[in-house]
Amino acid sequence: MDNGIQHRIHKFLPGEPPVQQLLLQRNSRMKFNVIDNIRIVLVETTHPGNIGATARAMKTMRLRNLYLVRPKIFPSAEATVRAAGADDVLAQARVVDSLAVAVTDCNRVIATSARERSIPWPALDPRVCATDVVNSARAGPVAIVFGRESSGLSNAELELCNSVVQIPTNTGFSSLNIASAVQIICYEIMRACDEPADPGLAGRDRIPLADHGRMQQLFHHLEQCMIDVGYLDPARPKWLMRRMKRLLNRAQPDQSETNILRGFLAAIQEILKTRTGRNNGSG
Ligand code: SAH
Repeated sequence: MDNGIQHRIHKFLPGEPPVQQLLLQRNSRMKFNVIDNIRIVLVETTHPGNIGATARAMKTMRLRNLYLVRPKIFPSAEATVRAAGADDVLAQARVVDSLAVAVTDCNRVIATSARERSIPWPALDPRVCATDVVNSARAGPVAIVFGRESSGLSNAELELCNSVVQIPTNTGFSSLNIASAVQIICYEIMRACDEPADPGLAGRDRIPLADHGRMQQLFHHLEQCMIDVGYLDPARPKWLMRRMKRLLNRAQPDQSETNILRGFLAAIQEILKTRTGRNNGSG
């Protein structure tokens, strides 16, 4: 009847904050499909058949956005055969050069892993993860990342992610075929999409979450500031930045919160500069 477009008239009150104005404008423009904000990212997939089977797994669960980071062979006839009718998902798939590029505009990035890591990331159950993904997707793009068939995701790639999801399996035999893993995650996402929105997130949605690019800028700024004050030794960084990234990713700051943190870091750097100048002058 309304073709999915909702028409609402809102009169702005004098003094209404600009962010609220923007959100009211955005919300009134159209009722979008949450699933369109969810992307599946495959990193360096070796077998084209797995790419096709992934497209099929996605389409059966209503997902459409597929990103391929440096696939070994793509496009390929084998992928098309294994897609079994989901060739539209393959045709729209975006091929990119790095995981960072695939997730740069995402406000939430979830890794999938078959195994425990030495520095455990916050690990989620697929059902909890799906609820989290769908709630985040109401505010902006979200990615779920799948690793190589042979070796999964590297630790550097995991550092780009907010959390890790592990599908419970037989202990000691935990590695699913990649398309099977995609199927399970997409099934949970489809189920979560059909649940009513979490009202507790309504207030949080007023200011957009910091996207991946903004978080990377914050990490670089924090690292530089910790070096400047002498807290982080670049020659012996140990796990410090990895732990700080884990902490900040878990907190999921919004754009205004990352601005405050960066303002605070800049103020520290400014004082350091003044002190260094004074010391140089007197010496
Ligand atoms: N030998 C690899 C397994 C790779 S399986 C390793 O040890 O990491 C290929 C991909 O499928 C994984 O990177 C992950 O994205 C997904 N996957 C497989 N089993 C999984 C599980 N139990 N939970 C979550 N993801 C899984």
